[in-house]
Amino acid sequence: MNTFSAPKGTYDLLPPESAAFLAVREALAAPLKRSGYGYVETPGFEDVKLFSRGVGESTDIVTKEMYTLTTKGGDELALRPEGTASVLRAALEANLHRGPLPVKLWYSGSYYRYERPQAGRYRHFSQVGAEALGAEDPALDAELIILAVDAYRSLGLRDFRLLLNSLGDKECRPVYRAALQEYLRGLDLDEETRARIEINPLRVLDDKREQVQRQLAGAPRISDHLCDACREYHDQVRELLTAADITFEDDVKLVRGLDYYTRTTFEFVHGRLGSQSAVGGGGRYDGLSQMLGGPELPSVGWALGVDRTVLALKAEGIELPSAGRTDVFAVPLGEQARRALFGVVTELRRQGVSADFAFGGKGLKNAMKSANRSGARFAVIAGERDLADGEVQLKDLESGEQTSVALETVAATLRERLL
Ligand code: ATP
Ligand code: MG
Repeated sequence: MNTFSAPKGTYDLLPPESAAFLAVREALAAPLKRSGYGYVETPGFEDVKLFSRGVGESTDIVTKEMYTLTTKGGDELALRPEGTASVLRAALEANLHRGPLPVKLWYSGSYYRYERPQAGRYRHFSQVGAEALGAEDPALDAELIILAVDAYRSLGLRDFRLLLNSLGDKECRPVYRAALQEYLRGLDLDEETRARIEINPLRVLDDKREQVQRQLAGAPRISDHLCDACREYHDQVRELLTAADITFEDDVKLVRGLDYYTRTTFEFVHGRLGSQSAVGGGGRYDGLSQMLGGPELPSVGWALGVDRTVLALKAEGIELPSAGRTDVFAVPLGEQARRALFGVVTELRRQGVSADFAFGGKGLKNAMKSANRSGARFAVIAGERDLADGEVQLKDLESGEQTSVALETVAATLRERLL
């Protein structure tokens, strides 16, 4: 058979596994919903310039990973590779920043990056994200980190670490940047990396190659260059995290190599995911609003990867929530029973009891097989003779016990026995 397959680097979510995905997405968002974050949804594509400016011309996302397209009307668009730029664009466009600050928003959806597909790295993936716009307050940075940790913990995840760093601000970062460039220029590096020293030197710290990492041992550290204000801010974030019973590791090589990323930066890494170990990350981006033509709007946010969180749960052997099963399965024998039981199923559903039906005019044997396979607790079975007596058979699929119940009262009886 010559049918279609899902595009390279993508996969479909199907029952029963899709239930776990949905549950993870809900668990990651739950702490935000009870912390004053409002739901935001933006389009799946934006003006390509929003990302080239908002993510950065020199990042892998923009130079290599973006899906871009030109519309019939001549607009240059890109499928969104991440959420922050879109959310900030939407907030500025709606003037939310003129109201009470901070504006706290959360989102959940699909993102697209043209990457080399491998385990935990896809071309279409899902994130749950949060952004807090318009406040410079270490408690806000701490809040977001705590909410992410609480989300992971609520799922039962244990084997993850929080890496933390400060990138300084517009006062102290340029001094550090120059010192780092000076050091990097003296190393033995390939041409592409030498070019990166001039455009985006902090990114070099992030190079995964052993021969590069070896040479970075003596590189100047941002922690030795923070100005007093940044140091004080970072100490407060650390104190608040410690007070909230959160362990973190200082990682001076953790960077977001763009000028509008400032101060707090963090990443969550999982211990059993191989090289795609980052399950989430975020940080402060005090300069981004101005990069997009907006006012000064110091902000902080994170994005957690849903796909990798599901993989992390599997790797830890944590039982994933399974597909919601229905409580009742109706098995009619004959046309009259079909109508009567379809009515019962509709009534049960309206009363809040989950129920399903043997569709497709199956015989008793096959219909009972469907009932058993559905995982339902009860089967309601009826033939012509039962109906003539105004009755249906109620079968407990766990114990096998079967009783006659009046057709009129079966919905009420089931409700009582189930709730
Ligand atoms: P990586 O270093 O693994 O490429 P990243 O720095 O590009 O990650 P972010 O842009 O910070 O990732 O996105 C936040 C989270 O989204 C990541 O921690 C990860 O869990 C998830 N993520 C990013 N890219 C992908 C992808 N291609 N497939 C699946 N999940 C992804
Ligand atoms: Mg990436």
